Amino acid sequence: MEQWLSVPKVELHAHLNGSVRDSTLLELARVLGEKGVIDFSDVEHVIMKDDRSLHEVFKLFDLIHILTTDHKIITRITKEVVEDFASENVVYLELRTTPKKNDSIGMTKRSYMEAVVEGLKAVNAVDINFMPHDADAGDFMDSQHIKSGTCNGATRKKIYVRLLLSIDRRETTEAAMETVKLALELRPIGVVGIDLSGNPIVGEWSTFFPALKFAREQGLYITLHCGEIPNPKEIQAMLDFLPQRIGHACCFEEEEWKKLKSLKIPVEICLTSNIRTDTISSLDVHHFANLYNVKHPLILCTDDAGVFSTSLCGEYSIAASAYGLGRREIYQLAKDAVEFVFADDEVKKDLREIFNSAAKMLDFLF
Ligand SMILES: [Zn+2]
Repeated sequence: MEQWLSVPKVELHAHLNGSVRDSTLLELARVLGEKGVIDFSDVEHVIMKDDRSLHEVFKLFDLIHILTTDHKIITRITKEVVEDFASENVVYLELRTTPKKNDSIGMTKRSYMEAVVEGLKAVNAVDINFMPHDADAGDFMDSQHIKSGTCNGATRKKIYVRLLLSIDRRETTEAAMETVKLALELRPIGVVGIDLSGNPIVGEWSTFFPALKFAREQGLYITLHCGEIPNPKEIQAMLDFLPQRIGHACCFEEEEWKKLKSLKIPVEICLTSNIRTDTISSLDVHHFANLYNVKHPLILCTDDAGVFSTSLCGEYSIAASAYGLGRREIYQLAKDAVEFVFADDEVKKDLREIFNSAAKMLDFLF
């Protein structure tokens, strides 16, 4: 796995809440236990292990759900998640999160996102750029941040971060629309798109369609969790919508594969996640191999690095060994992801340069 550290990487499918560090979870869960909010002994062993069952995964998500009702914790988690990705040489990160509303503690979708942005501003292990070049961040940022979008000089390691707001499949059309409007408001501080996620057996495409259509008309990028369960009607409707990317694409039938391939919609592939959630029975039958062989655009991603105990290096390592990819192929796979980021041409150009100069350093390539 170590060898993939030196390759720059792009992460396009990472949920903020699923990417929390185990050590942070342990610390925060202990505090909740002391306060009597949870039974600490009930979650301690789940946090400590790294091969969680699906049942245990859901248990962790329940815990994270309680933790993320606190603005300060959201800020801390965001900072740590960005720094963790940066530490494994992720140079561009799209972080997605579902803005939460909780009247009883005075949390609005906007204040939730403000806490996330505070986390981005707090990143100090690496230089962070999270605002588009032409942005006017208004009262969100002090002048120093507006000028450069970074928090320190230009000589240190750098990570680009962009945010996607997720619409949860439990939401109504109105709630989904509220999320899209918030995304539009927060564009100056690096919100670039909308994701549709959540329990795939809940909700109807027609409920979210108006909000997604509006988002696209307003110029936001769209990615959809698509085909996590067999649902041909919804999969067809999602592909017809022409999102800029989709996530997973696990339960596709012949017709849907045909359509996906002819439309060339890039797929965010999350190997460990698909196996852990029993969506795909084994790596041998995973669609990565076929899509890769026909040169369909795809991007390796973690989904929930914390909860599934993985990392982007780990996912590249799995792909390399399961599908016999060499260093050259892995480098190319990582580099190709640049073309599918939801960022402007200037960012893409800079990312290509980062990959090109890395190639010169990676002696195995030449
Ligand atoms: Zn996901």
